[in-house]
Amino acid sequence: MLPSLMQQPSMMISSIIEFAERWYPDVEIVSRTTEGPVHRYTYKQMGKRCRQLAQALPKLGIKQGDRVGTLAWNGYRHLELYYGVSGTGAVLHTINPRLFTEQMSFVINHASDKVLFIDITFLPILEGLQGQLDNVQHIVVMTDRSHMPDTTLDNVLCYEELIDAESSDYQWPEFDENAASSICYTSGTTGNPKGVVYSHRSTIIHALGSSTPNALALSATDCILLVVPQFHVNAWGVAYAGPMNGCKLVLPGPAMDGQSIHDLLEREQCTLSLAVPTIWMMLTAYLKDSNASLPYLKRVVIGGSAVPEAMIRSFELEYDVQVIHAWGMTEISPLGTVNMLLPQLQHLDYEAQMPTKLKQGRTVFGIDLRIVDDANNCLPHDGKAFGRLQVRGHWVTSAYLGEESSVDADGWFDTGDVATIDELGFMMITDRTKDVIKSGGEWISSIELENIAVGHPSVIEAAVIAAPHPKWDERPLLIVVSTPDSKTDAADLLDYISQRVAKWQVPDDVRFVDKLPHGATGKLNKLKLREDFKNYKFPDA
Ligand code: ADP
Repeated sequence: MLPSLMQQPSMMISSIIEFAERWYPDVEIVSRTTEGPVHRYTYKQMGKRCRQLAQALPKLGIKQGDRVGTLAWNGYRHLELYYGVSGTGAVLHTINPRLFTEQMSFVINHASDKVLFIDITFLPILEGLQGQLDNVQHIVVMTDRSHMPDTTLDNVLCYEELIDAESSDYQWPEFDENAASSICYTSGTTGNPKGVVYSHRSTIIHALGSSTPNALALSATDCILLVVPQFHVNAWGVAYAGPMNGCKLVLPGPAMDGQSIHDLLEREQCTLSLAVPTIWMMLTAYLKDSNASLPYLKRVVIGGSAVPEAMIRSFELEYDVQVIHAWGMTEISPLGTVNMLLPQLQHLDYEAQMPTKLKQGRTVFGIDLRIVDDANNCLPHDGKAFGRLQVRGHWVTSAYLGEESSVDADGWFDTGDVATIDELGFMMITDRTKDVIKSGGEWISSIELENIAVGHPSVIEAAVIAAPHPKWDERPLLIVVSTPDSKTDAADLLDYISQRVAKWQVPDDVRFVDKLPHGATGKLNKLKLREDFKNYKFPDA
């Protein structure tokens, strides 16, 4: 082979903030702080503070490769840590504050975090973990001296004092682009959370890939309200892709209710925002109650769980905001697919487009997708055959922290999702592998049944799990939270469902409960539900 003559600078995360500081110096980052007021500054000011932070880390004993944990909302100091920590060659571990206490101490110890940077709000959590953290030597509270809270903890430092003591005269080091840059843990609905370790290279390529027009189409004309937490897969990678594209960033802090979100969207004239369906549910409820509108917002990216049809219609038809439905997971940085209609679909009328809009979308360059059956045979792209969804590519994990490989010999990572892919390449999630109901050799999608059930006016939330059946192995059991004034019963609900699916897919029974269990990222905890119903027997079984 002939060696190329191109330059090969390492792909460093620090190069993103250097670029934004130099070429978009006046673009703003606006944060609603935990202390209360809204804070605003520019990429130029941010870049300077990132370098001050980088100089402070060695004084806390942080060397290249050491892990630094954060327990923080979306805000400018958290963003400084993204660059200040990874930029030096240390590894940023963003901890999900909604983890249960045992899971929290597990991830901090498992990642060997040496220093923790925390928002004021989370001090009580750490006080509760006193004596349980093996490696933590310092806790830095992300505020100034006047807001430092009293605490029973030792070794507590003040963020502003820490960086004030440093100069910004610092040159970001260049090192191997495959070195670890950050760690995120999966939510741990099936046992302990698992650590996914991203590299500088994978992070940069992911940010480039997710910026492209077929993905999030980011540009310097965008003002992004980043509702998706910075502790959740690097805010879906936008904490990097935003500054890379010179976007103005708006960071909402702890206030995620409909009114607070709407307030920021309006005041900062945001053009794009990203969040899970639950957040958008709160916003659209607020918009209806207060008769408010969304004059500036052009696009919303919705992922994390399937987007309900009513939500797509509401955004697009009532508020003239384009919905970008995306699918991903912690293990894949997270972007997997994005729903962008192809030209042949754009000519169709809205109703004819809807079945495609409900799908999770097509892959972008950098990620390869396939669906396989139980014997690992590839299944056709006909929109009907469904099987295990597998991915591989530049920003897909190859193994969890401390574990053996999590991919097969050809590099395919099994996502744990079950999906179809249609003739045009649109992927649709039909279930999680462990949630699908295997009835007499046929698979029944729990998600499809749940979506139908919540369409019933008396149903607030629904879950379908497999319950053992002597004849069919497993049959679907529907578990429902109904509205307070509901008069519906099992027969009425099953009749409603039987008008919408084949007879053999209709659940065999319904149970009504006051509430359903959820995990740390707000998703239904079916493991717990299966445990709750482990002694359940169908009436006819
Ligand atoms: P995140 O919730 O940020 O996407 P997680 O790693 O916590 O990341 O969860 C990933 C899982 O969430 C996926 O494997 C899939 O089951 C589900 N998921 C993510 N996006 C969607 C979507 N658009 N539709 C349906 N399920 C989704």
